[in-house]
Amino acid sequence: MVDWTAVDHALAGIESDRDRATCQRLSLDYAHFSPILWPQLQDRAADRVLYPRTEADLLAIARVCVQEQIPLTVRGAATGNYGQCTPLQGGILVDLTAFDQIVWQRGSRLRVQAGAKLAAIDRAIRPSGWELRWAPSTYRTATIGGFFAGGSGGIGSITYGQLRDRGNLLGAKVLTLEAEPRFVELQGEAAQAINHAYGCTGLITELEIPLAPAYDWQECMVNFPSWSAALSFAQAIAEADGLIKKMACVLADPIPSFCKAIKDACHVGETAVLLLLSESSQEVAEAIASDMGGRISWQRSPQDQPLTTLIEQSWNHTTLHARSTDPAWTYLQMLLPLGQEAALIDAFQSRWGDSVLWHLELLRSHGQVRVAALPLVRFEGRDRLQQLTDELTAAGAILFDPHTYCLEDGGMKQIDIQQLTFKEQIDPQGLFNPGKMRAWAEKYGDRSAVT
Ligand SMILES: Cc1cc2nc3c(=O)[nH]c(=O)nc-3n(C[C@H](O)[C@H](O)[C@H](O)COP(=O)(O)OP(=O)(O)OC[C@H]3O[C@@H](n4cnc5c(N)ncnc54)[C@H](O)[C@@H]3O)c2cc1C
Repeated sequence: MVDWTAVDHALAGIESDRDRATCQRLSLDYAHFSPILWPQLQDRAADRVLYPRTEADLLAIARVCVQEQIPLTVRGAATGNYGQCTPLQGGILVDLTAFDQIVWQRGSRLRVQAGAKLAAIDRAIRPSGWELRWAPSTYRTATIGGFFAGGSGGIGSITYGQLRDRGNLLGAKVLTLEAEPRFVELQGEAAQAINHAYGCTGLITELEIPLAPAYDWQECMVNFPSWSAALSFAQAIAEADGLIKKMACVLADPIPSFCKAIKDACHVGETAVLLLLSESSQEVAEAIASDMGGRISWQRSPQDQPLTTLIEQSWNHTTLHARSTDPAWTYLQMLLPLGQEAALIDAFQSRWGDSVLWHLELLRSHGQVRVAALPLVRFEGRDRLQQLTDELTAAGAILFDPHTYCLEDGGMKQIDIQQLTFKEQIDPQGLFNPGKMRAWAEKYGDRSAVT
């Protein structure tokens, strides 16, 4: 039993929230996209939310957590989709948004504090001719620490792959929960120990990442009379090596009608392809669109900053807009089988009709252009969702279950031994975000690794 009075006294110098309602509000993210996750998470809450401002504050919090065996979970902007920052076992939720400074930039290499917001980072570094390689569609609010700890990729993945791909993370500084907490530096491949680990393997205070050359991005929407023509066009854009691109998103009819910002530019029955291209690539893309039967329906030029209109219709923003028109929509996430994308969609459209609507994102994976799908799924119960998942898996899709808060059952797909080993070293009591890592639970249950 934690003596919270003693804890409050020990951490009195650090700003905090203690009332239950505030702690609960700050403990929740966008897990309500999942009718399966939400009932499991909606009542979970941290006992305290703390707002450290210095490394000394962080060390003080870590010492108390170790001494009192208090779970410690980190909160960036709480835009995760799977309850990643929701403390399953209460404890302390650390808000890291005061750690928002750029530490240094050396050409295409950036060292930044983990609580910095992605859009703010880009604003700061763009004058140098560089920018972030990727953005989630929550670009304006999400933090870089939360993106690497909880996200997977997004806008930019069409060129640079996903965050876990080699070369996309160069280093990290991490606070440990060892008997005597400290900061450790991870460089190169060692930094993968904290990449997409939901903060179970340490509190990240700084990240070192590679940048991309900054381009004068242009937003453009091209409409097609069929989803298959739209998919072929998006693939042609993604595969055109000479085109500089950041996004190709396909929204099959009637999904564009769910998105207020673009619905007037899309006729009933049309599929929309949302593109982010460099200004120099626009003309060629328009020619390809015209050759393939597309109609340019909406455009925005680099002068119209910020260019977030189409970004905020893509990736999981599509799900957000669909749910705002009808909360019965939920979603799945998957990689479609290479070369069989159109055949799979065709087969599932015949079988599942309007209860599955196809939202596709083009990305680069292991050197190939791949089609990721985030279909909107009308929720008709857990069994029906499982049936759809099973059928998709049997058809060759690789599913990344968005209806679980367990790290390995979602995006990771398997136990990461490097992450487990690192956690055993730096968090022997299993206090970082407990309950999210199956590898730990299978080995230690609710127990610590030390006896
Ligand atoms: C509408 C919508 C659209 C989205 N689109 C995308 C998308 O395109 N691509 C994508 O990848 N994701 C997407 N997401 C998910 C999410 O927005 C992103 O992954 C985002 O980058 C998370 O950042 P955050 O600051 O909100 O992190 P949080 O939600 O606060 O945290 C995410 C996880 O990281 C941990 N964490 C946060 N900071 C740290 C730290 N400093 N050290 C250790 N652990 C930490 C938390 O404990 C939690 O487990 C979307 C979500 C929504 C609701």
